[in-house]
Amino acid sequence: MNTNCWFKLIKIDNDTYAIKEDSHSEETNSYLLLDETKALLIDTGMGVENIFDVIKDKIKGKKLIVAITHAHWDHIGSNEDFDFIMIHEAEASWLNNFPISLTQVKEELLKTNLPFPKDFNIENYKLPKKEATIYLKGEEIISLGKRKLKVIHTPGHSPGHLIFYEESRKYLFSGDLIYKGELDSYYDSTEPLLYRDSINKLLPLDIKYIFGGHHDLFLSKDLLINISKAFNYLYENKLLYHHDKVYYFKDFSIRL
Ligand SMILES: [Zn+2]
Ligand SMILES: [Zn+2]
Repeated sequence: MNTNCWFKLIKIDNDTYAIKEDSHSEETNSYLLLDETKALLIDTGMGVENIFDVIKDKIKGKKLIVAITHAHWDHIGSNEDFDFIMIHEAEASWLNNFPISLTQVKEELLKTNLPFPKDFNIENYKLPKKEATIYLKGEEIISLGKRKLKVIHTPGHSPGHLIFYEESRKYLFSGDLIYKGELDSYYDSTEPLLYRDSINKLLPLDIKYIFGGHHDLFLSKDLLINISKAFNYLYENKLLYHHDKVYYFKDFSIRL
């Protein structure tokens, strides 16, 4: 196994880690949160290598819970390797019946910056089929013991998109709703108006860092504020609908 080359484990604090796949142009991020007896994995990566291998030393003796921000292929890749998975009910069926074809997924996967690990063969790549254990609606609290995360339903990028907010550390794990890069709200299952609503409802939160599903870590609340302003600008100019255009702003773009 060549795991360490594909995944990078980055320490956020003493018991929080980002698991980056920055060999790929998507630079997908998953996150591991540790508590005394439980651990939470937010998303399971792109499925190029087994994410469990890179976290197993950290979670020894702890019950591991997986929470999925949304069921796009690049966030559920290792789902079959985990027993306890939570996802929003609106995307339950996507875990068994993914909305885009395997051919399309492979095309996306091949947009890699660095070579795949030696033991990875794109011909053998398949989409995971694994039912979730618990279906969420939003507003639940995931308790790991001392650490607690609020589940917030934030549709727009996908119908069941979830964000996880840890009030005590002021961390917002934002999936594909907020990151520095191209924010996607252009394909059929996206809803640009709901995306704006989801962004705006996060504004009251007290946030130290935002940790997105792709690209840079340790994002500030300013990014959320600027994304909100951008969505509001597009809305006020009657541009917030699917029309095959990309709008560029500082640090991010919005594809509609
Ligand atoms: Zn996505
Ligand atoms: Zn993504």
